[in-house]
Amino acid sequence: MELFEQTIHQLRELLDRGEISAVELTENILARMDAVEGRITAHITETRDEALAQAARADKIIAAGDASALTGIPLAIKDVLCTRGVRTTCGSKILEPFVPPYDATVISRIKAEGAVLLGKVSMDEFAMGYSNETCPYCVPRNPWNTAHICGGSSGGSAAAVAAGEAVASLGSDTGGSVRQPASHCGVVGLKPTYGRVSRFGLLAFASSLDQVGPLTRDVRDSALMLNVIAGYDPRDSTSIRQVVPDYTLALRDGLQGLKLGIPSEYFASGLAPEVEEAVNNGIKLLTEAGAEAVEVSLPHTEYGVAAYYIIAPAEASSNLARYDGVKYGYRDMDAESLAEMYMNSRSQGFGPEVKRRILIGTYALSSGYYDAYYKKASQVRTLIMDDYRQAFEKCDLLVSPVTPAPAWELGARMDDPLSMYLSDVLTICTNLAGLPGISVPCGFSSAGLPIGFQIQAPHFQEERLFRAAYNLEQRAGIVERRPEIA
Ligand code: GLN
Repeated sequence: MELFEQTIHQLRELLDRGEISAVELTENILARMDAVEGRITAHITETRDEALAQAARADKIIAAGDASALTGIPLAIKDVLCTRGVRTTCGSKILEPFVPPYDATVISRIKAEGAVLLGKVSMDEFAMGYSNETCPYCVPRNPWNTAHICGGSSGGSAAAVAAGEAVASLGSDTGGSVRQPASHCGVVGLKPTYGRVSRFGLLAFASSLDQVGPLTRDVRDSALMLNVIAGYDPRDSTSIRQVVPDYTLALRDGLQGLKLGIPSEYFASGLAPEVEEAVNNGIKLLTEAGAEAVEVSLPHTEYGVAAYYIIAPAEASSNLARYDGVKYGYRDMDAESLAEMYMNSRSQGFGPEVKRRILIGTYALSSGYYDAYYKKASQVRTLIMDDYRQAFEKCDLLVSPVTPAPAWELGARMDDPLSMYLSDVLTICTNLAGLPGISVPCGFSSAGLPIGFQIQAPHFQEERLFRAAYNLEQRAGIVERRPEIA
């Protein structure tokens, strides 16, 4: 296998044995970027010189015998995370000139490990979207078929890892944005428990739902990344003070005694037969290996999309009020009054999907409508949490598809936002309940597009997710498949 196709743990061995240097590895990946980035277009900003300098420093750390999991490992970062001195656009024109003076906590943590940062990758504007087509800088393509979407909103992160343009990456998941592009691009995507990973320096979309998560080539790499990014952070008031275990230890365990709940609502009509078949095959592999499957019900799942598309835009309308042309970001210089400057900066800086969300959110929060929309949606959220609580009395994990269908063709749904929103139905409730979830590849469609398998767990049971995901990965036999980029 080429260097750019290998996992963090495989490369770790090569680096620690001195068979390759971090500079050689970084050069190998930069060469891969030269070869395929023209077709994948995952990057908003490349930081090649910084990457080579970080790699040279990593080689010194390795030579001194001080290497840890990510030392010298080249990573791609979703452009939603603040990186000191490196432009951070959040996929929006309104932040085109924004260079953060500080690092997000997750960035500080991976830098402290000696990781190599290759650049900032594409995303839907302000992480609002399913297909990564709302980014004004570049629309990444699915490495398995470049005529198709790579998913979103962490599309650049998923595409970069799948295409060999990074060993792993960080994304963010508010309603599925790590798991869903991971599923569409055939990589592993983890959404940790709300509060497990610091949100400090993560540009806010919907603060009660947002969580940073890794996209990786296999489950072991996902556990290694979570080991580094998880943990309490005094700078995030919602981060939780709870011990971070070594997540890789969960990979030793078999499936004996594990009860998998199959929520009937996740296999409802509208699910593509190929997806259903691949997921059912995954369940079969797990039960043959010792897990037990039980039917469960999450009856309020069908209201998840409606509740989310009130709560998330409501929070976004408040969070995005800070982009006013005054403090930072884009400003219209031709305005003749303050009010006009605000109006023009926001009208010109935000794209149509972001404007739609701000309008929906402002409307839902406005006096006279608040009770009918925001309050109702919050009540539905509680019912969804109760569904999970009851389901987890009968099982240890929930298994399901990640998306109703494989990745569609670029442009196919750009005129139909509602159908995009509805495609979030299988990932959104996880965020509404603050639970951890993972997407792990389980098969391919007849057209050769990847299909993901979703596992959800109770709060702070990421170890259980990894245990089941790893066992599935071992049995599905596709973990070493890489796309031929045409
Ligand atoms: N597709 C969802 C949305 O558009 C989820 C996005 C996300 O998780 N960031 O809001």
